[in-house]
Amino acid sequence: RLVLGIETSCDETAAAIVRRSADGRAEILSNTVLSQIEEHQAFGGVVPEIAARAHVEALDGIIRAALADAKVTLSDVGAVAATVGPGLVGGLLVGAMTGKAIASARGLPFVAVNHLEGHALSPRLSDAVTYPYLLLLVSGGHSQILLVRGLGDYERWGTTIDDALGEAFDKTAKLLELPHPGGPNVEKMAAAGDAKRFSLPRPMKGEERLDFSFSGLKTALRLVAEAHAPLSDQDVADLCAAFQLAAAETVADRIRRALKRFRAVFPDLDEPVLGVAGGVGANLAIRAALTAECEAAGARLVAPPLDLCSDNGAMIAYAGLERLEAGLTDPRDVAVRSRWPLDEKSAPLVGHGR
Ligand code: ATP
Ligand code: MG
Ligand code: FE
Repeated sequence: RLVLGIETSCDETAAAIVRRSADGRAEILSNTVLSQIEEHQAFGGVVPEIAARAHVEALDGIIRAALADAKVTLSDVGAVAATVGPGLVGGLLVGAMTGKAIASARGLPFVAVNHLEGHALSPRLSDAVTYPYLLLLVSGGHSQILLVRGLGDYERWGTTIDDALGEAFDKTAKLLELPHPGGPNVEKMAAAGDAKRFSLPRPMKGEERLDFSFSGLKTALRLVAEAHAPLSDQDVADLCAAFQLAAAETVADRIRRALKRFRAVFPDLDEPVLGVAGGVGANLAIRAALTAECEAAGARLVAPPLDLCSDNGAMIAYAGLERLEAGLTDPRDVAVRSRWPLDEKSAPLVGHGR
């Protein structure tokens, strides 16, 4: 059965076709993403109204492209999955309405997917990881450490008490007058910088709880930047390198503790798995820090390819596929939700619509 997945929760218009192949592996037949980066660049961030209009204009073509890339037609599709939350309501409405319309017109089951579940299950899509595993979700809107026990069964072990890590990257970029989106540009500049020249804090390092805090780091960076104004290109590169190192070491510290706790909860697992998801998972310095922590803890790091880390339709189609296999579908009147925590008690294994 082919599943069409639709993702429109933020600034990527995406559609994909995924299926379970005969050998039990998930197979991505197509994964088409249109990023709206250029539409939002002039504003230095995502503008919800512009995003919604861009989704309306692009989605039909993106779905058509996903079908064409997969060399299938709508008649071959067996189910439709669409992100219904969390995210920007305008965009969510576009994707959810389109998905429901296709499902209705074709008489297909509809699955309402939590965007975060899409990210959380990505290591199963890319590497067939088995439950349970630990997940680090670091994106533009979230910084979480999740225990993934099974489909719909998530325990949030840590979250950010202020900014998300991607948001901290983006704000740092803005402060240093680098173009939006900040993460990749900070990483690029950091490559030419000396991470040791400026010392920045490692927020919450050594604390027992598994939460994150990045606003203090951002403020510390702003103070250093102001003290050295006007900034030369080298100053900017050094600040980016210092920020990236602080971010990587902070994440590594939290993950060290999380892996220890995971071991304590599941002492019989041979090789615990740490999965990474979210756009910041593309950062090579952060990946390197995670690799080192996993090696030290005898765990395996599963970092999906970059196009499965950032927002995409394949992860939504895959979450839909797992739900369908578990017999879970949703009514057509299911509402979109701007906020929808993954570990909320109503989310697991009951229809989202109830
Ligand atoms: P959410 O999934 O929480 O709703 P989102 O969909 O905007 O948020 P993603 O698309 O997964 O998040 O990731 C985008 C974020 O990842 C941005 O904040 C961006 O700056 C950051 N990012 C992307 N590439 C890198 C990189 N190489 N280094 C650091 N950060 C990066
Ligand atoms: Mg995005
Ligand atoms: Fe996302």
